[in-house]
This record gives sequence, structure tokens and C-alpha cells, in this order.
Amino acid sequence: MSTAIVPGRFEGKTAVVTGAGSGIGKATTLRLLAEGATVVASDISAPRLEELAAEVGSDRLKTVAGDVAAPDTIEAILAAADGVVDALANNAGIMDAFLPVAELTDEMWDRVLGVNVTGPMRLTRAVLPGMIERGSGTIVNTASEAGIRASAAGTAYTASKHAVVGLTKSTAFFYGPKGIRTNAVAPGAVMTNIEAPFRSEYAAGRVGPIMQTTIPAPAQPEELAASITWLLSDDSSNVNGAILMSDGGWSAV
Ligand code: NAD
Repeated sequence: MSTAIVPGRFEGKTAVVTGAGSGIGKATTLRLLAEGATVVASDISAPRLEELAAEVGSDRLKTVAGDVAAPDTIEAILAAADGVVDALANNAGIMDAFLPVAELTDEMWDRVLGVNVTGPMRLTRAVLPGMIERGSGTIVNTASEAGIRASAAGTAYTASKHAVVGLTKSTAFFYGPKGIRTNAVAPGAVMTNIEAPFRSEYAAGRVGPIMQTTIPAPAQPEELAASITWLLSDDSSNVNGAILMSDGGWSAV
């Protein structure tokens, strides 16, 4: 799969990527670095960030280990960026074992919403004042096929990714006039380390047959990184509030 970089596209810019230790976030971080950005890469897994730093070996990469759902992680990310964030990829996310609402625990609901929605909201809120002051900035949230349909995950994840779509559109609406563009990418299946066990027999019976017949072949993380960096870059200057389905056509089924 060819995902040729655009040299210098992010020269002089500082980008933040969450969930940068693996999968889509890691591919996005590598591409941003290759295109000239300074990247603050954050993840809950310190070992993954250490591996990334060793692999990259660049002083344009700064790492922040922490839970995106925790307010002090947001502060640490802003501090690592010296308060100036030109491009934000709210990408960290977790799944929900495909639990339908009758089988959902409060703990699962709170954790999935905390990581997938509250974290991105807080990070968005934290970077906006600087972006407003400078009159420019781009934000890309990683939504999901589950942000537009019910048959791709359990209830908590589906609700969280629908909320990511709402967060994206609302931020785009309010801050577009201030020079800030906010969009989302909605991946279908992607070959990453995300954990997606079925812990509900009922959900497996309901979701399984639909997934088996409708999902296109899984994408590579680099293909999502190409979509995300396009939305973060000036190449998408006329795009604001869009939910870009980067799913091999799944949503068209
Ligand atoms: P991944 O598990 O390979 O990578 C996600 C990274 O996020 C991991 O390194 C993990 O340690 C980190 N992370 C998890 N919880 C965190 C937290 N609380 N704080 C900070 N970091 C945390 O998964 P991925 O597939 O690359 O997922 C990236 C995004 O893509 C997620 O938002 C996910 O919901 C979304 N997505 C993935 C797929 C898919 O098929 N892989 C499909 C649709 C949407």
C-alpha cells in the first residue's frame, strides 16, 4: 500500500498525538515526523513510548506517558508542547468487549467514555485558547464505523464514538470562524493491537454474522495515518466538521 509522505508539509509545526505507542497513533506519529513536525506523542504505555523513541531517534519527538482520561496527562502534554499546539490528533481509544447495554457495567461505561470522549474533550479544551490566539489550528479526532452505526461494537463504544462525532462537529461549528478546523476520521477494521474480544454471547450472535458479510479487508495503520495527516494539514483547508470514512467502503454497504 503506497502512502507516500509529503516532505516538509508540517515543517515548523508542533503536533500532538494520543495513543501514539501503537497502531494508528504510531503510524500517524511516524508520518508527522517524516513530514517535518515536532511531535508530542502520548500513550498510557511507557514501554511502547520508549520503543517508539528508540526507533525514531529524533529530538523532534517528545513523549508523555499517561492516561488520557486523567487531567494531569493533559497538563503534561501541553507542557511538553511548550503550550503551542498547531495540530492535535485525539486518537487514543479503547473498546468495550462488545457488551450490549443489558450486560454493561458502570465501570466499563465510565472507562470507555472517559478515554474515548472525556480525554479528547479536555485536550481539545486545553489547546483551543492558543489556537484561537494564533488564529489557526487543526484537530482530528479518531471516531469509528461505530460512530455512525450500531453493529460495529458494544453499547459503550458505540455511544462514545457517536459522541466523538458530536464533539467534532460542535468544535468545528464553534471555532471554524476562528481559523480552527476540526474533523474526524472514521476507520473501519484496521490491523492494530486494539483489544476486541467478544465477552457477550448475545452480541456475538447479533453482531458476528453482520460483520462477517459486510466488513472489507482490514486496512493498514499507515492508510489511516494518511487520512489523519491530510485532515491535519493545509491540504484539507476547505474541510471542517467532516467525518471522513476511511473504511474501505464499509459505510457504503
Ligand atoms: P491500538 O490499541 O493499536 O493503539 C491504541 C494506543 O492507545 C495503544 O498504544 C494504547 O496503549 C493507547 N491507549 C489506550 N488507552 C489509553 C489511555 N487511557 N490513555 C492514553 N493512551 C491509551 O489501537 P488502534 O486501533 O490504533 O486505535 C486507535 C484509535 O482508532 C482508537 O480511538 C480506536 O477506537 C480507533 N479505531 C480503531 C479501529 C481498528 O479496527 N483498529 C477501528 C475503528 C476505530
